[in-house]
Amino acid sequence: LKSAYDFVVIGSGAAGMTAAIQAQELGLDVVIFEKLNNLGGNSMRASTGMNAVETMTQLKYQIIDSQESFYEETLKGGKGSNNKELLSYFVRHTESAIEWLSHHNIELNEIVSTGGMSKKRAHRPTGATAIGSYLVNGLQQQLVEKHIPVFNQTKVLSLVKNDGHISGVEIEHPQAGKKIINAKAVLIASGGFAQNRTLMSVYAPDLLRLGTTNHPGATGDGIKLATTAGGALVDMNKVQVHPTAQQETDHVYLIGEGLRGAGAILINHSGKRFTNEMATRDQVTKAIDDLHQDGAILIFDQGIREVFKAADFYVAMRLAVSGNTICELAEKIGVNPNNLEETVSSWNIYQETVEDIAFGRQTGMDRGIEKSPYYAIHIKPAVHYTMGGIKINSLTEVLNEIGETVPGLFAAGEVTGGLHGDNRIGGNSISETIVFGRQAGKQAAKHVLSLS
Ligand code: ADP
Repeated sequence: LKSAYDFVVIGSGAAGMTAAIQAQELGLDVVIFEKLNNLGGNSMRASTGMNAVETMTQLKYQIIDSQESFYEETLKGGKGSNNKELLSYFVRHTESAIEWLSHHNIELNEIVSTGGMSKKRAHRPTGATAIGSYLVNGLQQQLVEKHIPVFNQTKVLSLVKNDGHISGVEIEHPQAGKKIINAKAVLIASGGFAQNRTLMSVYAPDLLRLGTTNHPGATGDGIKLATTAGGALVDMNKVQVHPTAQQETDHVYLIGEGLRGAGAILINHSGKRFTNEMATRDQVTKAIDDLHQDGAILIFDQGIREVFKAADFYVAMRLAVSGNTICELAEKIGVNPNNLEETVSSWNIYQETVEDIAFGRQTGMDRGIEKSPYYAIHIKPAVHYTMGGIKINSLTEVLNEIGETVPGLFAAGEVTGGLHGDNRIGGNSISETIVFGRQAGKQAAKHVLSLS
């Protein structure tokens, strides 16, 4: 541990690690501080994929896409309240983000649909169960190869400001204790605040009754760091509830949207579908809430499991119940077998004719539910993502209330607000971390060079 670095990165999620790698490649002396023992934050828990358009993988699957429709559909999903500067930068840089990952041995060569997207955009690793661990391990491998130091169990307590410029951080290190580390630029990449009950009770008190899919470190430390340094906050009351989380034990397991994207359906406790499963997260959550039942049930088959490999994890963790026939499955989960058989056979017709006359679903219809064994997962909505956070511009510079920058201070990833508007699209958080993580690394390098 040195007493000075060019660039200090707070947090070892995908945003922080990406920024550190990018900045080091541009010549900076970089360090990452991570308060927990394990690296990866919420990024590690990401399940489905990374949205990107106009990629080689899309072309491989004959998907002709455009930045314009990605922009429009993300804006629609966010109910028009997304920060347009951030969104515009975002859709223009997802393809290069995928390429950048590929240059760093992180290959996302498979693709699935997520809610609210008319085309398949969520890029996934081939064969791996979830994108999160694959991505975090791949980035960590790069840190090792590039000798970028990461200090875990090292919490950043505050930022140091000198003459209006950020000049370092105060950390608490397990051996060295409290220590000031000087830096020419600092990135806050400390993630969201869904695990902070005080902040949640201020901004989203109605959601305190729900469980959360978030890792324990998602306590919004960056919110306080930024505001103390003069940064502004935006959209803090916009907190996303994910419709499908398995919550039978005291652990809340996220069941990735890619399962529906690969063909799973949702049924109520009478065995009937009740919504377009590929609507946006806020809409699917509302449909489940409107049932006034104990959540709902995801139904899929072996064919879907083979395509969306995260399902192997759900089965291995015993989150899913299985049956050799639809009837057997229905009996095991206490649903009327005739209803479920009728639901599945109707769905298979809608899927084959690509016309869901019941709920108008248009994506995630590549395959029916017809290959034994069949699976069911009981799900309920859970707090998943804090869309609000630190106000930034598309250069990832932290802004104050009147839009001025806080020199030397950058923020990227879930800790920032604005990109997603009222409702984040599944698959956009991982792309946000790579797109804006890279941007933060570049802008930090530019800033540091301008000082010398
Ligand atoms: P993102 O997806 O934006 O990269 P993540 O949730 O994946 O965010 O990662 C954020 C990381 O930052 C987590 O590993 C979390 O433990 C870490 N972190 C949060 N607060 C601090 C802090 N005060 N000091 C150091 N690390 C922090």
